[in-house]
Amino acid sequence: MFEYAPSPESVRPQIKEHYGLFIGGEFVDAEDGAVFKSVNPSTEEALFTVAEAGEADVRLAVAAARRAQETVWGPMSGTERGKYLFRIARLLQERAREFAVAESLDNGKPIKETRDFDVPTAAQHFFYHAGWADKLAYAGLGADPRPLGVIGQVIPWNFPLLMLSWKIAPALACGNTVVLKPAETTPLTALMFAELCQEADLPPGVVNILPGAGATGAALVGSPVDKVAFTGSTAVGRAIAKSIAGSKKKLTLELGGKAANIVFDDAPIDQAVEGIVNGIFFNQGHVCCAGSRLLVQESVADDVLERLKARIATLRVGDPLDKNTDIGAINSAEQLSRIQALTETGTGEGAEAWQPACDLPERGFWFRPTVFTGVQQSMRIAKEEIFGPVLSVLTFRTPDEAIAKANNTPYGLSAGVWTEKGSKILWAAERLRAGVVWANTFNQFDAASPFGGLKESGYGREGGRQGLEAYLDV
Ligand code: NAD
Ligand code: MN
Repeated sequence: MFEYAPSPESVRPQIKEHYGLFIGGEFVDAEDGAVFKSVNPSTEEALFTVAEAGEADVRLAVAAARRAQETVWGPMSGTERGKYLFRIARLLQERAREFAVAESLDNGKPIKETRDFDVPTAAQHFFYHAGWADKLAYAGLGADPRPLGVIGQVIPWNFPLLMLSWKIAPALACGNTVVLKPAETTPLTALMFAELCQEADLPPGVVNILPGAGATGAALVGSPVDKVAFTGSTAVGRAIAKSIAGSKKKLTLELGGKAANIVFDDAPIDQAVEGIVNGIFFNQGHVCCAGSRLLVQESVADDVLERLKARIATLRVGDPLDKNTDIGAINSAEQLSRIQALTETGTGEGAEAWQPACDLPERGFWFRPTVFTGVQQSMRIAKEEIFGPVLSVLTFRTPDEAIAKANNTPYGLSAGVWTEKGSKILWAAERLRAGVVWANTFNQFDAASPFGGLKESGYGREGGRQGLEAYLDV
């Protein structure tokens, strides 16, 4: 393997020492003065402090959003709304590098990914929905679809800016206003996005950002919004569904996953190995649709595993701001201990763990890429979402067995199929119970393509024409 010289990112974003809540177009402190810190998970250093929203702040933000929706944003023509969305998309592109570095600092993910995936895909989402704003009557959802009103949105820490764009772009295109709560460990790019809304002259109150933890999220869900859109764990999704049952609020949920990545014996093995690595080690495995269960046909299992381990041994783990880094820091101490605990159950239940020999930085939260073999369906590492760089490998003998094992999960978000035969792809895709099935690739996303789950992975779609339905009264 080549040795790589360090290649540190040189752009440094202007991070303020303190951020307020973004309500009605202004940054303000919390009514009760509460603040918290956001940490750089690769160094454990605090990056900035930020106001923490409580119930009183939620009331103010929802009222600001209501006013903006009824007096400005709702009555505005789709053509005019589209102009604002285009402007936001272009500003995101202009400041792309700065957003990418900020995301890497606050989240721990490698600059290679924030620069080439998170930020461009977020901008694409705004461009795409800007185009819909004046064409809603042609979306197949009725001749004159109306906005729902004020949307409460709660997002996780794994793709902070991208999940924000998946939530805000369609909501705004459809004439709604939003109150969004970023995750407690990653509020930075949402706050920079609030500054960008000011720069874009977005009317005050159309976008409101309320940093905080679970209690802030619960207060937002309980407030008089017209719809709640949530991405996060299945446990919290379930609690939210219960709490708003019987109200008139609409709900979409994008929850966890335990995706099968199926490699048939006729697959192009080298490409499959790249896809397996991308499927589980992209974003440190903090991905709801991660290919965390590798199902490989027995006759090629030894070959696949040998090549997979050789490939994993070349992955560079370390400084997220080094342009050569493949795997960055785990987002938080809590997530690291969750990954460690679940990994220990794997060894405890009799699976065999393999890790490459790689040095880890002294400070920060790190976990080596891990492959479990000898995995049984009944083991926790085969059933539960680990949400880290940990792959469980199972084998199968027949295509029917592959499908049965792949579907043997309460989740249904994504799946992958690797085979040279087109007919086998179609056969498998028809039988896999998952919202998205990737064939000879993995983790492909596009604003035009709807994304969402089956079973305990949630309901509702984000992106594409189908995603508009969640934000319109149809
Ligand atoms: P979480 O569900 O606890 O948090 C997601 C968001 O919901 C955060 O913004 C959080 O502050 C908020 N929240 C927490 N409790 C809430 C409540 N009662 N009401 C309203 N909002 C609330 O997820 P987590 O603790 O960050 O991660 C736990 C597990 O969730 C992970 O290990 C992983 O399995 C899963 N997860 C899935 C996704 C995904 O994209 N589907 C994202 C993050 C985490
Ligand atoms: Mn952080």
